[in-house]
Amino acid sequence: MSPIDIIDIGRNIEIVRQRILSAAKKTGRNPSDIKIVAITKNVDIEKIKQAISCGIDIFGENYIQEAKEKISNLKYQISNIRWHFTGSLQKNKVKYAVHLFDMIETVDNIELAQEIDKRMIDRAMEVLIQVNIGAEKTKSGCSEQDASTLAKEISRLKNISIKGLMTMHPFCQNPEDARPHFKRLFEISKDIEMQDIENVSMKELSMGMSNDFEAAIEEGATFIRIGTAIFGERTAKIKRR
Ligand SMILES: *Cc1c(COP(=O)(O)O)cnc(C)c1O
Repeated sequence: MSPIDIIDIGRNIEIVRQRILSAAKKTGRNPSDIKIVAITKNVDIEKIKQAISCGIDIFGENYIQEAKEKISNLKYQISNIRWHFTGSLQKNKVKYAVHLFDMIETVDNIELAQEIDKRMIDRAMEVLIQVNIGAEKTKSGCSEQDASTLAKEISRLKNISIKGLMTMHPFCQNPEDARPHFKRLFEISKDIEMQDIENVSMKELSMGMSNDFEAAIEEGATFIRIGTAIFGERTAKIKRR
């Protein structure tokens, strides 16, 4: 690791924070309501530690195996870090996920929720319902129409606590093209909130990534999921562009 890396991650985070501040200011939002979820797929532990030393305290991982190594390495050295699962979760991996993560952002069907409920023993798992805005065939997430029914069904599970919604919107070169998706997720969350379902909070909205998080913030994001803008371009297979 070269000293350049250290400076870069710190500087990148500073730039992201400045961008958050100006987007929040533009719409009169409190910047402290907007939290960075640093997405660390393919990012090594040293870089994660650098981000922690710059004050990042929420991380998102997409793969159980990769997360297991990193989290078991870091969890007991550094407290106060929260880990979000942001990948697509197979039912047979839930038994690992519940020990690793503080929140699962990608719950999109009742069977998955039931499995999480079954595997939680001493606490409730915080989850977001993932909605497939724009109904992209290649993306996971429940349909816009099903979100509220799914929230109701999941709300009956004792060991799950719904905190809001998440979307992995279609990639847009121009952030303005992503804005309608953000608006839509916000509307759906307000819809569900108005139904006042017991055990369902719509406080959190996880939307926006490196190239469009300002638009997401302007439309109500509380979690922005940032990979590239902090850690640089990914080289591996799951690169989105
Ligand atoms: C990779 C990833 C991100 C971050 O994307 P960047 O464009 O690198 O910021 C956000 N959310 C999810 C679910 C991802 O897999």
